[in-house]
Amino acid sequence: MTLQPALAHDAFCRPLAADGQSLSYLCGHSLGLAPRAAAERVAHEMHRWATLGVRGHFEGADRGDTPWAQASEPLRAPLARLVGASVDEVVAMNSLSVNLHLLLLSFFRPQGARSRVLLGRHAFPSDRLALESQCRLHGLDPAACLVEAQATEGVSMTDAVLRELHRHGERVALVWLDAVDYTTGEVVDIGRVARAAQAAGARVGFDLAHAIGNLPLALSEDGVDFAVWCGYKYLNGGPGGLGGAFVHRRFHDDAQLQRLEGWWGQAAGSRFAWGQQPREREPGAGAWQLSNPPVLAAAALAASLELFDRFPASTWRARSLALTALARDSIEALDRPPLRILTPADPARRGSQLSLDLPGQAVAMEHALLRHGVVCDARGANILRVSFCPLYNDADDVRALAQALEQLL
Ligand SMILES: *Cc1c(COP(=O)(O)O)cnc(C)c1O
Repeated sequence: MTLQPALAHDAFCRPLAADGQSLSYLCGHSLGLAPRAAAERVAHEMHRWATLGVRGHFEGADRGDTPWAQASEPLRAPLARLVGASVDEVVAMNSLSVNLHLLLLSFFRPQGARSRVLLGRHAFPSDRLALESQCRLHGLDPAACLVEAQATEGVSMTDAVLRELHRHGERVALVWLDAVDYTTGEVVDIGRVARAAQAAGARVGFDLAHAIGNLPLALSEDGVDFAVWCGYKYLNGGPGGLGGAFVHRRFHDDAQLQRLEGWWGQAAGSRFAWGQQPREREPGAGAWQLSNPPVLAAAALAASLELFDRFPASTWRARSLALTALARDSIEALDRPPLRILTPADPARRGSQLSLDLPGQAVAMEHALLRHGVVCDARGANILRVSFCPLYNDADDVRALAQALEQLL
């Protein structure tokens, strides 16, 4: 298979090895590369800060700049395109775990016997801590509340969740799932899970940490209740980057929904109202905002979202699948037991990530691969994760990985 160069190869900075050679970067699932334009964008806001001071909050629109009071607004449309939503269903704010708590306060409302949270066996540790503490907030014992679904060799995560819903459906208050499992790279069928959860009377939310910018999504059409993501993995928003959230439009006018509030959740016209003046809520997902947005993080993320907008999602998804298929074939051709690929082979059930099972050797292999010019990461003692980002990876990166594995195994 011949593959064209990466879609936006020259638009990204490449990390260098100690000898000055550029590395094959297969770690976009952990921290996406820096778009070249990000540094300029951030420097531009620094310059505005230096020269305008507080006036930067409201000035600049006439020169094509975004006044800082609206810094996160231009991010909403490109984010909405990535998650398959309307602009008012998404908001760029905070980081993932914070957004998860804010939305759990609205969407995890255990009542009587309906008090369980159904989550994936591999739920991210921070998500699990968030869910456990929210159980305690409701006076519930987390050990009794959290029910796990586990995918096995023959059973997909989607089927495992459906099976648990069949068993415990009437007791489940919330289904909370990674759209892409961060350990195995398995993709769940978001629409099927959402429909099954809602049919069982539960609310349903997704962690998109490994999904946004990795797969085209259709949250609105799939009827997902809410979702949260971080900005620094496939979104390339930079370390500690700006996260985001989705709230389906059917909840936007739901007066029953509880929510924590702050000034930024108020409509722009009443956000700065003094004292007890009447206020008006921001419509849509923006109502969950509490604070004014981090301008430098928003500037960095904008640079990456512009790159995504250069290509239809079908283009980068097709390229991601082709690269991952090439990597799969190259690794399987090595035929070096016990090395084995854990990620499902079915293209509909994987994104850009491949998880390699290397019992007891994953950490040593991560370090050895780095010495061979390949950046990836180990999860625990057994799993090595590599990912192929269509915007900046190409077939040379796949070859570098295969050659290094061949020499090292
Ligand atoms: C990376 C990641 C997070 C990150 O949480 P932060 O609050 O942004 O630090 C959360 N959940 C999953 C599944 C992740 O992979």
